[in-house]
Amino acid sequence: MTNKQSTPYQGSSRCFGKYKCPKCNRAWASACSWANTWQQCNACKSKVYPHNQWKLKKRKNQKPTKPDEDADAKIKGHIKELCEKCRIIGSNCLKYFKLNKKKAEKP
Ligand SMILES: [Zn+2]
Ligand SMILES: [Zn+2]
Repeated sequence: MTNKQSTPYQGSSRCFGKYKCPKCNRAWASACSWANTWQQCNACKSKVYPHNQWKLKKRKNQKPTKPDEDADAKIKGHIKELCEKCRIIGSNCLKYFKLNKKKAEKP
């Protein structure tokens, strides 16, 4: 396997991904999914690439939620020890995304 196209999504942004562990059949979904980036199975620690990914969309019909609360919930649900992206950056990749955005806004 090459590292170049290990995932269906090949963009540079965070996206939504679905994972299924081939060893123990555990399935999970994550809103902190990245291109060519694995997450480890919580049960057997296998490195699993998402079999399905799609871009995060803001739904107009969705009930308004405070963005900070939403992010906090996602960070709590996201185990950085099991995420390749988090390991690479040494922090939670959801925060990384936010910081990146802030940096980009500065001239
Ligand atoms: Zn597993
Ligand atoms: Zn992560």
